[in-house]
Amino acid sequence: MTTRLLRIGDDIIAVHAIVTEDGVTLIDAGLPGDLRMLRAALAAEGLSLGDIRGIVLTHGDSDHIGVAERLRTDHGIPVHIHEADAALATGRTRARGVKADAWRLWPTLGFLWAGIRRGMLRTRHVADVRTLADGDVLELPGRPEIIAIPGHTPGSVAIRVPGVDALFLGDAITTRHVLTGADGARLAPFSDDKEATRQSLEKLRGLPEERIFPGHGPEFRGTADDLLDALV
Ligand SMILES: [Zn+2]
Repeated sequence: MTTRLLRIGDDIIAVHAIVTEDGVTLIDAGLPGDLRMLRAALAAEGLSLGDIRGIVLTHGDSDHIGVAERLRTDHGIPVHIHEADAALATGRTRARGVKADAWRLWPTLGFLWAGIRRGMLRTRHVADVRTLADGDVLELPGRPEIIAIPGHTPGSVAIRVPGVDALFLGDAITTRHVLTGADGARLAPFSDDKEATRQSLEKLRGLPEERIFPGHGPEFRGTADDLLDALV
């Protein structure tokens, strides 16, 4: 059975879809205005929103949960998130008040403009989630494996999908700093605890996957070991 990876969106904010003969798993859910883009990307593959079997969120920040509630209510698609970020995704706790540690005007405006255009200001929390724990392997297309990597948020996870040779790290790292435009793999801004992230990422050493996807920025080509060596 062939398993394919679709990258939907752009280097500012991306959503990933794992496509198998059994349907689609969505990794993260973008922004609320991303439904049309998602529908078009699936249609190009002969698929529809109804083929999505589940959504797995790397963490609970608003720029990752965008279309999740809409897909849950319209299509009955379950939304999975680590238990430590469930309150963030459901809105039972307020959005995190984390300060940016660095920013430059044009990259920041570019991020905000893309975000506003794609509905960032109308966050729709997820009313009902299924919680994940470290080590879970989900019965969803691609059998995603959950590795808890607390730091950016308490419930941040890495999602391992061996069938597409990929690790999805959410905002543990970024390869394009949304506020400075700087390239290169680094620990992401707006993190609760970057040192905790760095320690969490050590758990990924030895994994064979050679494609690493952050929530923001282009793919990192290399293994987790290569990434840890390259972090600036
Ligand atoms: Zn993000």
